[in-house]
Amino acid sequence: MTTNRLLVVEDESAIAELISINLRHAGFAVDVVGSAEAARVVVDRELPGLVVLDWMLPGISGAALCRQWRADPRTRDLPVIMLTARAEEADQVQGLEAGADDYLAKPFSPRMLVARIRAVLRRRAPQALEDAVQVGVLRLDPATHRVSSEREGAACELRLGPTEFRLLHYLMTHPERVHSRGQLLDRVWGDHVFIEERTVDVHIKRLREALAPGECAAMVETVRGAGYRLVARPAA
Ligand code: CA
Repeated sequence: MTTNRLLVVEDESAIAELISINLRHAGFAVDVVGSAEAARVVVDRELPGLVVLDWMLPGISGAALCRQWRADPRTRDLPVIMLTARAEEADQVQGLEAGADDYLAKPFSPRMLVARIRAVLRRRAPQALEDAVQVGVLRLDPATHRVSSEREGAACELRLGPTEFRLLHYLMTHPERVHSRGQLLDRVWGDHVFIEERTVDVHIKRLREALAPGECAAMVETVRGAGYRLVARPAA
């Protein structure tokens, strides 16, 4: 699973260690790399939930890497928090102009970093957090792994496989929007290279079957030639 997997790009090993210990403690899975080139390899293979990106790296700078990601449709929405040793306002402006979602000057408290990460994820990638979500009559709670639908006061527990659960979680945190099969592979499976797009169709079918006992199957709509979307109120 990738959405709660964070990537830390930092060449100073003591700082990288400090960050990763604190992020793991906060419940995230963490990958650490020491250069922009290595970060690119990781992200090309699998989209992380968020990147903590140091500005000053050997070779390509963090700001340049962030710009490259923003220019690529696949990584345009990748949440990025930039770190820098330089606290000058001009640098902060540059960091945000490079497309970072937020910016933290060293030295920073690890607790502050975790708080900023949660704030960015809540805005950009809510499926990476454990908050319960509700769309129409459907409710999903990542903490308890429960999905239910509620009609006229009667709740119906729904049983989903692990992939269908992640797929529904993603769709529920991004409702009413059309997602292509490629986007769903990237964001739910985390891998756009090694899995065939029709795998998505198979799991959408299973998801609808799992939602059927709650009369919610129609909430997962097929948008011809574009992909899928979850709607609160399906057309009759
Ligand atoms: Ca550095």
